[in-house]
Amino acid sequence: MATDSFGRRIDYLRISVTDRCNLRCVYCMPPEGVQWRKHDEILSFEEIERFAKIAVGEGISKIRLTGGEPLVRSGIVDHVRRLREITGLEAIALTTNGTLLRKYAAELRAAGLERVNVSLDTLDPEVYSQVTRGGSLEAVLDGLEAAFEVGMDPVKLNVVVVRRLEQDLLGFARMTLERPIHIRFIEYMPVGGAHEASCASGSTDIWTEDDHVPAEELLGRLRLEVAEAGLGEIVPVAKGNAPGGWGPASYYRIGDAPGTLGVITPLSHHFCGECNRLRLTADGGLRTCLFSDDELDVRTVLRQGTDDDVRALIHTALANKPESHHMRIGTLRSMSQIGG
Ligand code: SAM
Ligand code: SF4
Repeated sequence: MATDSFGRRIDYLRISVTDRCNLRCVYCMPPEGVQWRKHDEILSFEEIERFAKIAVGEGISKIRLTGGEPLVRSGIVDHVRRLREITGLEAIALTTNGTLLRKYAAELRAAGLERVNVSLDTLDPEVYSQVTRGGSLEAVLDGLEAAFEVGMDPVKLNVVVVRRLEQDLLGFARMTLERPIHIRFIEYMPVGGAHEASCASGSTDIWTEDDHVPAEELLGRLRLEVAEAGLGEIVPVAKGNAPGGWGPASYYRIGDAPGTLGVITPLSHHFCGECNRLRLTADGGLRTCLFSDDELDVRTVLRQGTDDDVRALIHTALANKPESHHMRIGTLRSMSQIGG
């Protein structure tokens, strides 16, 4: 079992398999995209698998693949299959924008993927296209259907809440009445350089601190809208009954609905005391905190060192993991580069 210097159990590794994406969400990337890393700067699948195997030996039992958009990297299905075969790894999950999920869902499921998080911030096709700078809501909803059809479980929906978007929270809440979908409302975080880039280009789609909706306000709105629509009462879900999660969401349910509503509050209530994760960026940086730009260079060690050297690096990361984040505006790298 791996613990850090504050006694936290670290058993969860998030791996960004690519910095590339087929969308350009306004809060994640500037319109022109970020400068892609060169091919040889990105870890090969073999390098990621070697790192993962060593990390599992050091106490990691859960892996999530993310990006950029993980499904744009060719060979991703076989990568999932090989990761799934690592002895000691209990589960593997994927965070995706969902646009390519219809194409890959069945193959991914057959390769051993069970858990999927789809990111979707609005149920309005036009707003979706604006937020993602050109994405198709229809494709994402179809991808979501495919996830259910092939038996992914749990299926979660990540919704970043932004004041100016005036999102239809009730629309998301209604989805939980129909099927076992777990909606997670995530506080918008001012991460990365997308803000500065949008500002500099005179863009008006930049989101500011005023767009952050604290969890209490969000829950208040949900309660009111659900009650006014006559759907029932929102009740907290006990930790033991929450949809199998590895992260810090608090869950609620409308009556005895099959799905749940979760809130993730990195800003209003930071949950660093429960943090259980390390992050590997697509170009081989090992990050101990989403909000800290301190990274250890895994790529060089993977290319020039022994397995023991890699192990030593993991131990250094555990020893250096900060007790809590000192949230400030922006990080040097965007979410797509870090692997949100
Ligand atoms: N492309 C995939 C996707 O969109 O699901 C995986 C990578 S994306 C960076 C991972 C998650 O980070 C998404 O759910 C996205 O909404 C979230 N995200 C990106 N920028 C964010 C921000 N500034 N605040 C909160 N969440 C953010
Ligand atoms: Fe791409 Fe995901 Fe970032 Fe949107 S949030 S630009 S889908 S990496």
